Amino acid sequence: MVGAKRSNVIDLRSDTVTMPTEEMLEAIRGAELGDDVYREDPTVNRLEEMAAKKMGMEAALLVPSGTMANLVSLMSNTKRGDCVILEAESHIYWYEVGGISTIAGLIPWPIRGHMGALDPKDVEEAIRPKDIHFPETTLVCIENTHNRAGGTVVTPKQIEALCKVTRKYGLKLYMDGARIFNAAVALKVDVREFTRHVDNLMFSLSKGLCCPVGSVIVGDSDFIERARKIRKMLGGGMRKAGIIAAPGIIALEKMIDRLEEDHVNAKVLAKGVAGIEGLHVDLGRVQTNIVLVDVSGLGVNSNIFIAKLKERGLLVSYHSRNIVRMVTHYGITREDIERALTIIEDAVREIKARSGDYF
Ligand SMILES: *Cc1c(COP(=O)(O)O)cnc(C)c1O
Repeated sequence: MVGAKRSNVIDLRSDTVTMPTEEMLEAIRGAELGDDVYREDPTVNRLEEMAAKKMGMEAALLVPSGTMANLVSLMSNTKRGDCVILEAESHIYWYEVGGISTIAGLIPWPIRGHMGALDPKDVEEAIRPKDIHFPETTLVCIENTHNRAGGTVVTPKQIEALCKVTRKYGLKLYMDGARIFNAAVALKVDVREFTRHVDNLMFSLSKGLCCPVGSVIVGDSDFIERARKIRKMLGGGMRKAGIIAAPGIIALEKMIDRLEEDHVNAKVLAKGVAGIEGLHVDLGRVQTNIVLVDVSGLGVNSNIFIAKLKERGLLVSYHSRNIVRMVTHYGITREDIERALTIIEDAVREIKARSGDYF
């Protein structure tokens, strides 16, 4: 059975839980296939051409996951031992098993952003000067939308300002754009506004765009050629990958504009939660499909709150000790949001009634 409606449970843990649409399943069934390592899969070739065009770049490469997309891109943009500037709570730094160091052999140089966006002055300051003691800084990574900051958008203007710095020092600028279409939809601008000032980027097919598998790397042809070889080295050369690419084509054609619905639902959810005593939401951060809820006002930690919601059929995820994350996505309706709010109110009521029992 397809769709997030397999049970009564409302799953707001992530937009990765989205299921492919009927149309995607049909496209998979009918996809023309070939061996993509020989570059003979027409469906993959078509998706890569579409993705490159959409992003205003020369070429694209389908990879199995966002994590591999980032790793391949890191390796294609640098040499071992280089220093990479990235945001201190970026996905690459937090959630990718340290592949940046263990596999790519790079030195991550984390700096704090503001709502997920790096300050160009901080970046400039973090670039290691040419000195016999220092590793060479060759790459700056940004994340858009920024996951841990709450799905916040790094604006085209902010990217342009960062680009001025990277160009000045001859560095590459890479964007982990797993949710870049959420950013474009939020600002109601063409996605190329976000890609114009970066050297290369990746985006996810398997999150809000509902594909079962896959991410796409885009950049200039030389970069994508290097990436293709590194993907192969990492074991990501896929044979009849057209079955992954076929739903990707549908995603690019039909699933982008509807992200707006997820954003509206996130705002409704955020406002509702913000109105519940004991919970806090920074509404300024609710720019796309992610809502971060601070539960410290209830005197319980995130894990207890998550468990109380789970008992009632609402799944949310852990962000940090006092913050839980809720993500809206395809399959989550306005009625689900209303029900989620009722569940949250109910859980809060119980926690307050039993306050003291938890410690
Ligand atoms: C989900 C995510 C990734 C990784 O994607 P996977 O397909 O889960 O490996 C990378 N970057 C960001 C910002 C993400 O949100």
